[in-house]
Amino acid sequence: MNKDAKIFIAGHRGMVGSAICRKLEKEGFTKLTVRTSSELDLRNQKAVAEFFSTEKPEYVFLAAAKVGGILANERYKADFLYDNLQIQSNVIHSSYENGVKKLMFFGSSCIYPKLAAQPLKEDCLLTGPLEPTNEPYAVAKIAGIKMCDSYRDQLGCNYITVMPTNLYGYNDNYHPEHSHVLPGMIRRFHEAKVNNLPSVTIWGTGTPRREFLFIDDLAAACCYLMDNYDEKGLINIGIGADISIKELAYLVKQTVGYNGDINFDTTKPDGTPRKLMDVTKLHAKGWKHSVELPEGIKIAYRDFLASYVNEYAEVGDQH
Ligand code: GDP
Repeated sequence: MNKDAKIFIAGHRGMVGSAICRKLEKEGFTKLTVRTSSELDLRNQKAVAEFFSTEKPEYVFLAAAKVGGILANERYKADFLYDNLQIQSNVIHSSYENGVKKLMFFGSSCIYPKLAAQPLKEDCLLTGPLEPTNEPYAVAKIAGIKMCDSYRDQLGCNYITVMPTNLYGYNDNYHPEHSHVLPGMIRRFHEAKVNNLPSVTIWGTGTPRREFLFIDDLAAACCYLMDNYDEKGLINIGIGADISIKELAYLVKQTVGYNGDINFDTTKPDGTPRKLMDVTKLHAKGWKHSVELPEGIKIAYRDFLASYVNEYAEVGDQH
């Protein structure tokens, strides 16, 4: 991408899209195009078609999607299927109609089969049943991947799909129940510290293993692949190493500076025993992560503190 290329980042307010914007701005790209969902409803075919024919972006990062944890996925199945199918169909088709040079679509590690062999290789997609709780989301995302590949095969479009592992860092969701494990722990340990609580309770047995990628590393990988990768199918983005939930809890406890005990609530579900990406392909393409977990958690904790304070300030303003 030239520095003056016109780049549309769909979903620029989300964790992924905002990180890509920061990275592109830092690299000196001058023509970033963004729209909030109230300015442009990506589910609306006519509005998206008009936007593309007026703006004529050359590159598209399709980081807009309806996402959420297990609770949201179960509660809003229809929304997860409809919104995601609409957003990706509209953006991909309008990109084709308006001659977009290259588009990046985002899958996720959670759309691989529930019982796929670990570490997860790109070719295990569609080799087994999905995790039932997020099936509508996964079906929509898989349709998006096939759409990119079909537009490549039939119409010669250079559309690529990346598969990020669990992400953390700036702009994460720290909701006490709906968040993923790492932001959930940061909040819980912090609140226990400031309230002098004797212990913190972690969900499950602590034995499941997960992989975590710092959000700025994801953005760096995406920008690198936009310039250096032109294939159909998928490419995993991860660090290629995992950690147990128990080890993670001790790491977060230490980073936050909490001195109490850790308990495990084994009535809460463990979920998949292990979720780790095979990153052989990514490394072979010449990209490797740079932020290790202990350092990334320190940065995430600082970001949490900044937004946590603001959250309270906002509530204060309303009263
Ligand atoms: P998953 O990777 O899709 O299973 O999603 P999560 O990030 O929500 O959970 C990962 C693992 O961390 C599961 O084994 C959870 O039981 C465990 N866990 C421990 N404490 C927490 C917590 O406070 N929040 C969440 N979301 N998970 C937790």
